[in-house]
Amino acid sequence: MGELRVVIVGAGMSGLYMAKMLADRGIGFTVLEKAGEVGGTWRDNRYPGLSVDIPAARYQLEFSPKYDFSAAFPSGPEIQDYLVGVTDEHDLRRHIRFGVEVVDCRWTGGEWLLTLSDGDELGADVVVAATGFLRVPTLPRLPGLDSFAGPAFHSSAWPEGLELAGKRIGIVGSGSSGIQLTAELGARGHAVTQFVRTPQWIETNLNPALAPDELDRARSGPEQGAEVLAALMGRIGQDPRLSDPYWKLAGAGDKRPLAQQALRDDVAAIRDPELRAALTPDFPPGCKRIPKSPTYYDVVQRENVRIVRAGVERVVPEGLVTPDGTVHELDVVVWATGFDTHAYTSPMTVHGRDGRTLHEVWAGRPYSYRGVSVPGFPNLFLLHGPFSPINNVPVPDTLRDETGYLCRLVEIAARDQVALEPTHEATEAFRARLAELIPQTVWGSGCTSWYQGADGLPVIWPWFEAEHRALFADLAEQDLLRVPLGVPVAAGEGA
Ligand code: NAP
Repeated sequence: MGELRVVIVGAGMSGLYMAKMLADRGIGFTVLEKAGEVGGTWRDNRYPGLSVDIPAARYQLEFSPKYDFSAAFPSGPEIQDYLVGVTDEHDLRRHIRFGVEVVDCRWTGGEWLLTLSDGDELGADVVVAATGFLRVPTLPRLPGLDSFAGPAFHSSAWPEGLELAGKRIGIVGSGSSGIQLTAELGARGHAVTQFVRTPQWIETNLNPALAPDELDRARSGPEQGAEVLAALMGRIGQDPRLSDPYWKLAGAGDKRPLAQQALRDDVAAIRDPELRAALTPDFPPGCKRIPKSPTYYDVVQRENVRIVRAGVERVVPEGLVTPDGTVHELDVVVWATGFDTHAYTSPMTVHGRDGRTLHEVWAGRPYSYRGVSVPGFPNLFLLHGPFSPINNVPVPDTLRDETGYLCRLVEIAARDQVALEPTHEATEAFRARLAELIPQTVWGSGCTSWYQGADGLPVIWPWFEAEHRALFADLAEQDLLRVPLGVPVAAGEGA
């Protein structure tokens, strides 16, 4: 079997997972990481109150089980420490080149040519874009955006050592980041104003911590650890009406009213009718990703927290202006305004077999075969590409299936010295199944969310987790086109 040059772009959870799978199979590879440390979104997001919204038992890599997280929904820094630990435990660091960004990636007819930010060029037979979907921050395009006199920053760029005592803090946004920030800073007693353009449904699960004796037991062995985590899950107090994780999918319509009532009951606990009305959503739950916070509804009722039920329209040196013309005076502004979840590999440009970029091929409507590959882009593999699960299957489980499948493709590519890409027919068939199913899911119910594609079709996986596993267990070689490696071929040709 000939050696292939495999490059993974990004050393977040996805890149690390792929790296470990390749290492296990004895396949050589290099990881290129633009920052100075692994972790991706967990490295970048350091805001107060950050915690993962998937239980610890489901948010870990199967080859690095960890039973002694401190709580059911561990903090962001704890997840970041875990990822750094995974890297060192599996000796992955020696494969990573830090501080280099891939600027351009071009299929030259027989290989990929990568141009790096330091001017270097690198040839590759396989490129795995593990570039993440919560990476490119979105700031609203508002008049005067840069005019604010105090610190103003995106939630994923929290300034180290920022002093908040005595400051009036504005938090713009009511997604998971805005909710967690408001809950945390409000609980700490800071003067917080949250700008809520669209109120969210919120799950109020508790976040129980592991007691010292449980930590000891968790550390005594995998069986005990798994038991401790399972018991911890039992203490999060999830409303049984929300416990079926598939109530958002097609065919589960009858479970949705129950879920909605469970969430409505939580908002109803807000005593002030005006505040309650301001924070009651008017769209079907689940359509936007549901933030989790055990404390948000309590915290917003404190005197030091103010909810402004409006979007921000303008920025002035002294604060933020809402549509009614009110200037809300502030000392610090946090833009918890989300991410460009359709950026995929951007700003890296990727030119395929016919010279067109991924961006051009997608023309604002990203698509893929199985979420991991695109016709015309041989041996280019995406982790969490368009229509990969980013909601109803925990990320580590998605990665288990996707990386397992991709490694099998890399083995075929090495054995036969070919580059593989999906056929147009197979990709169209995949798209047709999505277009049929997605409108029947909660995400197809018409509210705007970061899943929404330019054509209105939410870019989301509409199936169960078991179907994800089964799909990727099937190699479906008939769906793949084989392009010779190392031999320049004319644009558009395949074998
Ligand atoms: P997000 O869900 O996209 O929320 C962005 C928010 O900004 C929305 O509430 C949006 O309002 C608001 N917004 C944008 N422009 C505005 C303006 N001019 N005035 C007022 N509000 C404005 O972003 P996010 O909260 O960063 O979360 C993104 C995803 O990251 C989450 O869904 C989740 O998957 C992940 N995440 C996970 C965790 C965790 O695991 N604990 C924590 C944080 C984030 P509209 O709704 O009206 O557009």
